Amino acid sequence: MKTMKIVFFLSFFLSGGLLSAQDLNAVAAVGLDGGKRWVLAIHGGAGGPERGSMKPEKEKQYTDSITRALQIGSRILSAGGSSVDAVEAVIRFMEDCPLFNAGKGAVLDEDGKAELDASIMDGKTGKAGAVAGVTIVKNPITAARAVMDKTQHVMLIGPGADAFAKAQGLQIADPSYFITPERLEAWKAEKQKTRTGQPAPPSAEKEKKGTVGCVALDSYGNLAAGTSTGGMMMKMRGRVGDSPIIGAGTWADNNSCAVSCTGYGEYFMRNCAAYTVAVQMLYASRPLEEAAHFVIFDILKAKGGDGGLIAVDKDGNVAMPFSTNAMFRGKVSAGSAAEVLIY
Ligand code: ASP
Repeated sequence: MKTMKIVFFLSFFLSGGLLSAQDLNAVAAVGLDGGKRWVLAIHGGAGGPERGSMKPEKEKQYTDSITRALQIGSRILSAGGSSVDAVEAVIRFMEDCPLFNAGKGAVLDEDGKAELDASIMDGKTGKAGAVAGVTIVKNPITAARAVMDKTQHVMLIGPGADAFAKAQGLQIADPSYFITPERLEAWKAEKQKTRTGQPAPPSAEKEKKGTVGCVALDSYGNLAAGTSTGGMMMKMRGRVGDSPIIGAGTWADNNSCAVSCTGYGEYFMRNCAAYTVAVQMLYASRPLEEAAHFVIFDILKAKGGDGGLIAVDKDGNVAMPFSTNAMFRGKVSAGSAAEVLIY
């Protein structure tokens, strides 16, 4: 299958005026000349449409948004910023973009409401933060980061998490802010089906999800990962998927790799998907690509759980396997081409 591939060289970013002179110097200092490097990979969800079924304008909207997200992360990493900062900034942008199933544009639960989950992990410190079932936090990834940085805990849920975000002075939004006309239409159609017959079980393929995730290796050798989602369409109220679960949807450890998953969350949770990639590297001496492929195909797909993941290891290798039709994704690193791919 021919892969749709859009390649933007670093010169594109530079000629586009998106990097300042200061950024340029930073690229030279930490990237190309210094022998050090940074790497960034992102996903916008697995279970995208079959090739040819998406309107070209829509496809362009996705590739443009992923390109923009890569640029945001590149700016931070090329200027010597941390992988945690890059991951948070990239995911904030994707949460604000209504195309993706995270923040604004999240899929709706059985009651027609958006309940949002997010997590972030710092591979240097081993610290992690997560929120689940939040309803008024504009950027759940920033709330997850605040849990990591400002509390003794790893995860806050529901009203407690909403209240914590408010108390931290994070941006608060009315629950209606998250609901886009497109998601509402899809919810209504799905609700109609449940009235008239048997609803089909959810699957990563069918739901055309757009969970977002980001993994990064910064120029100091520190890894970080984050994931943010509205979960699965028509999920039960209170359902929490893999995305905010450390070890299932997100993992980062400087000794192995950083991972962000997307797909049918229950399978990822039951198989500790993200952590298992690291385990395969650490205890089975598998290279990243093989470890990631093993988790997606030999463990998850073999059990009926479709999806994908993005991962970067401590040496800067990137793997982005998926078992669905498509997975919106992109990667960029110091001094090399940025790529945006869908199929
Ligand atoms: N894994 C997410 C969940 O189950 C959904 C997705 O990645 O599309 O909540």
